[in-house]
Amino acid sequence: MGRERGMSSSKRLYEMLRRLGFPERIARAFGEVPREEFVEEKERAHLDSAILSYSDGKVYSTSSQPSLMAEYMRDTGINEGMKILEIGGGTGYNAAVLSKLVGEKGLVVSIEYEERICEKAKENLRRLGMDNVVFICGDGYHGYPDLAPYDAILVTVGVDEIPGSWIEQLKDGGKIIAPMNLLSIAFHQPLILFSKRRSMLRGIYRAATGFIKASGLLGNLNDRNLEKFSKIECEEDGWLEMDHRSMPILEILSASVSRFMGTFRFVDDNGKAVYRNGKWMVCGETPRLEKIILELERERFPTLIEASFSFDADRRNFSVERLF
Ligand code: SAH
Repeated sequence: MGRERGMSSSKRLYEMLRRLGFPERIARAFGEVPREEFVEEKERAHLDSAILSYSDGKVYSTSSQPSLMAEYMRDTGINEGMKILEIGGGTGYNAAVLSKLVGEKGLVVSIEYEERICEKAKENLRRLGMDNVVFICGDGYHGYPDLAPYDAILVTVGVDEIPGSWIEQLKDGGKIIAPMNLLSIAFHQPLILFSKRRSMLRGIYRAATGFIKASGLLGNLNDRNLEKFSKIECEEDGWLEMDHRSMPILEILSASVSRFMGTFRFVDDNGKAVYRNGKWMVCGETPRLEKIILELERERFPTLIEASFSFDADRRNFSVERLF
């Protein structure tokens, strides 16, 4: 089917989102931003798919699928007047839609890692007069403390972990939505919706997604963990055995699992473990590993991992099975 005559890409996206049942205010925000102004594949701007927004032979970026972004906005409860942090700003399209959704009294802070893409985004947002967007060039790992706290953090790039900085910069009751790069489920990124209550985060699984994988600190956790792992010495006879079930939960909660030559490795401050035949061989002290495994065995998802991290114990909300 060709493009309907006389109808702009934004109008088409508005109608598509309404048809899918998204709230009027979210569809309207998409209806107010000309997507073709932010992308390279201008003739595809009206499509509900991820499309190329920047490419120079070295780095590239995509504008995420509109209906998935609309789900992000709905699930995190974004409304007028809110302050939102976006990680993975790209050429600024989603930040522009968010800017319409939060309105003049709200604020959008968006962080993009690649300098050239970031400069392009700034130019796009300036040209279209988006005054309530602060666009930052840098590594999203650190968040942006100067304008915190945020009502929600929207992550549009696959990340290895949820850094502590994001939890600190999020309001109580705020939400983080993030596609996670898990070594144990390499073929897709589970999208997890987290809610902050006091100093704890609860997570629920939302969907299987496929985003660009993050660069910088949000994308090199494996290397960082392996380096730590190699620094911990172990005696020949110092290894103990521990049963184990869910690798994805362990990865998300601990941010300490790495994969090397097909083998999973866990590292803590004073100990480490190697995964073999359904069991962890543990050496030294690995209190976080023990805590998570214990909680999984009790059929309760971990309640307290690092005093700041917890998972919903309600299986209806967070189901391990659905992660595989
Ligand atoms: N929200 C964007 C989608 C951008 S795609 C849009 O609607 O257009 C993901 C972007 O994340 C890419 O541009 C990539 O360069 C960027 N990125 C990768 N690693 C990052 C990091 N560590 N911090 C911030 N941005 C990162």
